[in-house]
Amino acid sequence: MPQSLLLKNANVLVTMDDGRREIANGGLFAEDGVITEVGDSSALPDTADTVIDASGQIVLPGFVNTHHHLNQTLTRNLPAAQNNNLFPWLQAHYEIWARTNGEASRVSTLIGLAELVLSGCTTVFDHSYVFKNGNSVDIQIEAAKDIGVRFHASRGSMSLGESRGGLPPDSCVEDEDDILRDSIRVVDRYHDADHGAMTRIVLAPCSPFSVSETLMRESAKLARDKGVMLHTHLCETFDEERFTLEKFGKRPVEWMEELEWLGPDVWYAHAVHVDEDEIRTFARTRSGVAHCPCSNMRLASGIAPIKAYMAAGVRVGLGVDGSASNDASNILLEARQAMLLARLKMGLLPPDGPHKRFLLPQSHPLRAGEWMTAREALELATLGGARVLGRSDIGALEVGRCADFFTLDLNTIGFAGGLNDPVAAVLFCAPQAAKTTVINGQIIVEDGEIAGMDMAPLIEEHNRWSQRLAEAS
Ligand SMILES: [Zn+2]
Repeated sequence: MPQSLLLKNANVLVTMDDGRREIANGGLFAEDGVITEVGDSSALPDTADTVIDASGQIVLPGFVNTHHHLNQTLTRNLPAAQNNNLFPWLQAHYEIWARTNGEASRVSTLIGLAELVLSGCTTVFDHSYVFKNGNSVDIQIEAAKDIGVRFHASRGSMSLGESRGGLPPDSCVEDEDDILRDSIRVVDRYHDADHGAMTRIVLAPCSPFSVSETLMRESAKLARDKGVMLHTHLCETFDEERFTLEKFGKRPVEWMEELEWLGPDVWYAHAVHVDEDEIRTFARTRSGVAHCPCSNMRLASGIAPIKAYMAAGVRVGLGVDGSASNDASNILLEARQAMLLARLKMGLLPPDGPHKRFLLPQSHPLRAGEWMTAREALELATLGGARVLGRSDIGALEVGRCADFFTLDLNTIGFAGGLNDPVAAVLFCAPQAAKTTVINGQIIVEDGEIAGMDMAPLIEEHNRWSQRLAEAS
């Protein structure tokens, strides 16, 4: 017998289906983690193995996080890295990260994922690239299974140490043969390409300034051979642009083109510093972008041209980025910041596109499309993220997709007075914690708490590791 789940009586259920339906008194029915019915609650079956009464709540498709470094939760708010931009910020962290062992990785992965699911996230891509002291992809995958998150793990890498012209110290990088051997091992062992997959693997060299040209090329070859996706940081800062111009005589996107690192199987974290040609290149090659507004503000990196990407048809999702540059793993907060930062860009910079020469006021009708709306930001967080990760089975609540969703209680202080449009209130009002989060038809957050996991001893253990790592620096 299939395991059934019924959600009913939602004040409003946001589908993100082709018609972008928002269903009053909405609900859904799922069997074995796959949605079989969506609609008015009165038209759904009466009962199921698991029943969720969502009265007074809004239901949204689970958010998709397209860029994170879960282990960085151990180095949140590091005093030496509070007030600097990317390169010195990285240099303050590299050696601490390289001391992270398997136990610390496990606890930080659990903590980061718990914070994500409590903010409505159901699918997480993690970009880990420091594997020392027994830290491994396997440990993170186990932790993700323990929480119950849909998890895209990276076999990331750094191979270009300072002595070869890279940014990280030599002690923090790995041998390239070892990296490729372990990449093959984890793809063969864990990658699941099927509909509804809970685990996938991504090959993710860290950045143009921390891996060699050879490793970039070999990673791309291997990923295409195995049918897995590719990811790296790109165009995050002017420092990176200077690095590729000086070292390779090319801007970062040109350098990626040379390395055959453009295509529908590739997405980049940040992509802040791009020109109009590069935006067209991303659109033409179907390369994707993980937008991380909090991190971009925290490190003074710049403002990514997200509305221009959307207008050009570039695939864009949201990422909370690592907890050392955010320092939260709250995806709902990130969606709100994406909406607000796109608006700040309108106030600071000339308009994109053909109206560039005319400094029209922001509320001029010709500029109406430049406003990032709450619904657009919600779409980036759901469907957008699903597209970036190459998935058509998540990101919306419709028949055939995975039963991944979360609910927010609308009867809170934070929403009071904002309910004439409850969907937009999700981002216009302060981010609220999920009341219920369901992944693959399983309840992961129940009544605002992680179901089946006592978080208090984990928080204690996490703080011990964090202190130990910082003290050894
Ligand atoms: Zn990152």
